[in-house]
Amino acid sequence: MYARPRIDSLDFARNGRRISAQVPFAELPRLQELLDSPLGFLDYILQGGMDHLGRPILDVSLHGSCQLRCQRCLGALDYAIQLEMRLLLCDQAGLDELDDDEEEFDAILADEHMDVVALLEDEILLGLPIAPRHETGSCQAAEGKYSQDGRHPFAALEKLKHN
Ligand SMILES: [Zn+2]
Repeated sequence: MYARPRIDSLDFARNGRRISAQVPFAELPRLQELLDSPLGFLDYILQGGMDHLGRPILDVSLHGSCQLRCQRCLGALDYAIQLEMRLLLCDQAGLDELDDDEEEFDAILADEHMDVVALLEDEILLGLPIAPRHETGSCQAAEGKYSQDGRHPFAALEKLKHN
């Protein structure tokens, strides 16, 4: 059973703590719903620290490769997760006061029992394409259309095969 890490986020930042670990995609249920396959792992690094104004921050680095579902043909679509971001830790009052337009980083609510995996999942979901699709030409649905038009891009290859 995978143990979901929880951190005291302010303490984590102030003491410059670091987690470098791997989590199976199967542990990310909200992302899972959008994936074609539950297999695979997400590599992540969570680094606590302070920004130049002395505010507590988390630097998040995410790397992984998953398979989304193409919204045109519903086939598997390789998708590389490559995210680097800095999150500012705020209390509720700080969050309310923050002017998002002036902030260079996104702010999140500091939490004494922060669910690290849920945080990573949030960030991945925010970065996902709304309607992922294969490139035209490598999409099954697009191929179907081309063959009806009599302009199937692989028609010539098909002929070669049968000769
Ligand atoms: Zn497709």
